[in-house]
Amino acid sequence: MAEVRTRFAPSPTGYLHVGGARTALFNWLFARHYGGTFVLRIEDTDTQRSTEESLAAILDGLRWLGLDWDEGPEVGGPYGPYRQTERLEIYREYAQKLLEAGRAYFCYCTPEELTERRQAMLKRGEAVKYDRKCLHLTEAERQAYETEGRKPVIRFLAEDEGETVVEDLIRGPVRFDNRQLDDLVLIKSDGMPTYNFAVVVDDALMRITHVIRGEDHLSNTPRQIQIYRALNLPVPHFAHVPMILGADRQRLSKRHGATSVDQYREQGYLPEAMINYLALLGWSLDDRTELFTREELIRHFSLERVSKNPAIFDLKKIEWMNGVYLRQMPLDRLAQEAAARLEAAGYTKPEEREAVLPRLETILKEVQTRIKRLDELVPWTYYYFTDDIQYDPAAVEKFLKQEAIPEIFAEAADGLEALEPFTLEGIEAVFEGIRERRGMKLGAVLQPVRVALTGTTVSPGMYEVIHFLGKEATCRRLRRWAGRGRTGLDRQQES
Ligand code: GLU
Repeated sequence: MAEVRTRFAPSPTGYLHVGGARTALFNWLFARHYGGTFVLRIEDTDTQRSTEESLAAILDGLRWLGLDWDEGPEVGGPYGPYRQTERLEIYREYAQKLLEAGRAYFCYCTPEELTERRQAMLKRGEAVKYDRKCLHLTEAERQAYETEGRKPVIRFLAEDEGETVVEDLIRGPVRFDNRQLDDLVLIKSDGMPTYNFAVVVDDALMRITHVIRGEDHLSNTPRQIQIYRALNLPVPHFAHVPMILGADRQRLSKRHGATSVDQYREQGYLPEAMINYLALLGWSLDDRTELFTREELIRHFSLERVSKNPAIFDLKKIEWMNGVYLRQMPLDRLAQEAAARLEAAGYTKPEEREAVLPRLETILKEVQTRIKRLDELVPWTYYYFTDDIQYDPAAVEKFLKQEAIPEIFAEAADGLEALEPFTLEGIEAVFEGIRERRGMKLGAVLQPVRVALTGTTVSPGMYEVIHFLGKEATCRRLRRWAGRGRTGLDRQQES
């Protein structure tokens, strides 16, 4: 294949949506597979809605996912500028070409006039489209409108017979009846280009060979093809990827959970897992439907394997996949993630990080197999760094209100305090002793201890927890509960 050039063309009017990220990924994978170029272009002509924060968030999201762009903002490139608001002159020049070729015209109709006439068309049961009132204005008529102070738009003179065929690489040929296509606006009255016009000029000048985008743009494509033809520009290949739906088969929206890449990042999804999961939203390789490394995706990605059917976003699956990647994560990296999150939550201080990291690595060995998201790291680790435990009220009720608890805890604390050195075996022996003396089941002794030390009923092995926590903190917490008795417990519940 000749040099492949793809692009991702986000409008910076919000966050990076998972659908956008999937589009970016497919373009990136396609370019990387063919050793081509991946271009990032910012479509910011909607000046009301475009913001710098949104742009920064989108770039940040792409960087986090590792979708590096070869040309675009920050890196430049031979076909820049890569922000549409910096290319306004170029669009004017191309609109002028169309005017001169008789394929575009000035239109002075006001929005109110257009609405009125559209409503009349609707009433008459006609297809609603621009009625070409301004197509043949004389110079005098134009002058009269100008004198009235009207600002014209530039409209495209669309082909109104025959059909326009989109040769879609995923869907095959898709035919559009030209009579359905409007004389769309190319340049608005404020001088800004419309999406359909700017996208054609840019994709052509940026030498894009493959336009890979969401299926929601399919209806725009025949219009764009007509503009390419009118400008004598080569038409790129098109591939419209299926929409992403929620489990209820409605378009993915906030109702279904997080839709922004940033939210997934905050919840502790790993970029590797995100990439793997997003790749499978519409693409698959034979019967392999699960784990792929980035290199494998690059090696195997092709548009032939993209489905025509909508992709269903399955939170359970992405969570499972994230767990798989988390278990493969080197402990030192996991410890860094935990440290950052503990610091953000105020449990440890950044200046203590060096001391905290080795402790975390030991703790996380036991935790790594149990979590699916990084945001679970804090609840699984904070209790090693503070006595300010978030007690689960149900667990307190069930395990710490038993009559014998103060005695058992006092006995345990005495035994542990006397332990020297403070080893796992020694800890075990202390609890075995209590169990034997009291004729209790081991679980009946250890579960209340777990609640007292961690606030919850789930944790890694109790002896390990006690060992990591250390003699002092363990005994302090046990004695605190031992000293409370029933009234103390009640007071704690009320507070
Ligand atoms: N700015 C458009 C969007 O975000 C790009 C569409 C396209 O890829 O052509 O939907």
